[in-house]
Amino acid sequence: CGITACIGETDSVEPLIEGLQSLEYRGYDSAGIAVKGRSDISLAKSVGEVSELVDEVEENPLSGEYGIGHTRWATHGGVTDENAHPHTDESGRVAVVHNGIIGNHQSLKSELESRGHTFTSDTDTEVVPHLIEEELNNGATPEEAFRSAVARLSGTYAIAAIIDGDEAIYATRSGSPLVFGIGPGRYFLASDVPAFVEYTDQVVYLHDGDFIAVRPDGYEITDGAGRQINREVERVEWSA
Ligand code: GLU
Repeated sequence: CGITACIGETDSVEPLIEGLQSLEYRGYDSAGIAVKGRSDISLAKSVGEVSELVDEVEENPLSGEYGIGHTRWATHGGVTDENAHPHTDESGRVAVVHNGIIGNHQSLKSELESRGHTFTSDTDTEVVPHLIEEELNNGATPEEAFRSAVARLSGTYAIAAIIDGDEAIYATRSGSPLVFGIGPGRYFLASDVPAFVEYTDQVVYLHDGDFIAVRPDGYEITDGAGRQINREVERVEWSA
């Protein structure tokens, strides 16, 4: 299972998919990406190998300068296209990828359903986009909405999200790996360095509890309370 994300000056589909291919060694049963196109967030997902996702993208091309990608190792919900990530809210404004397990997903799901949310997958992950959607509807900014949603979660996770109307990637980790890459003209997030090492060797290893907001012109790492954190940028030696 693995996560990729990138944001930059040129189209993100190729680096997202190449990143997923470089994470195949981690094991997975399905793959998908979501990118912010000109009008809205577009998704492509497929059960099976990343090559199936590549075929899907060739048949139904999508493009966008930022996005998120995922290889899934199913823990909650069968291996189906519906359960493949990214997962969205009902409006399609929020797309989320997640590695790990949301321990309290059942109670969150019942709570959200009692407030009228309809779920389209059997995953634990899908509570996250719905929680973000609810915060947005209550007037939170995208960053606040992401933070508040994550504050409701227990379990292990690395999560990355994109929210329509805000040119940014929001991500956090707790018990699952997440690294940040600083390339020329583009930023990356991934479960592991091979996902982007062909583009950059400048890496920040995020810690449990870190939040990162990445925009085309910069990034900010904060703790759960929103206080800024400085994490060292390291140069990795990695043969691609
Ligand atoms: N628990 C999530 C699911 O089953 C994520 C699994 C993973 O880490 O790939 O969809």
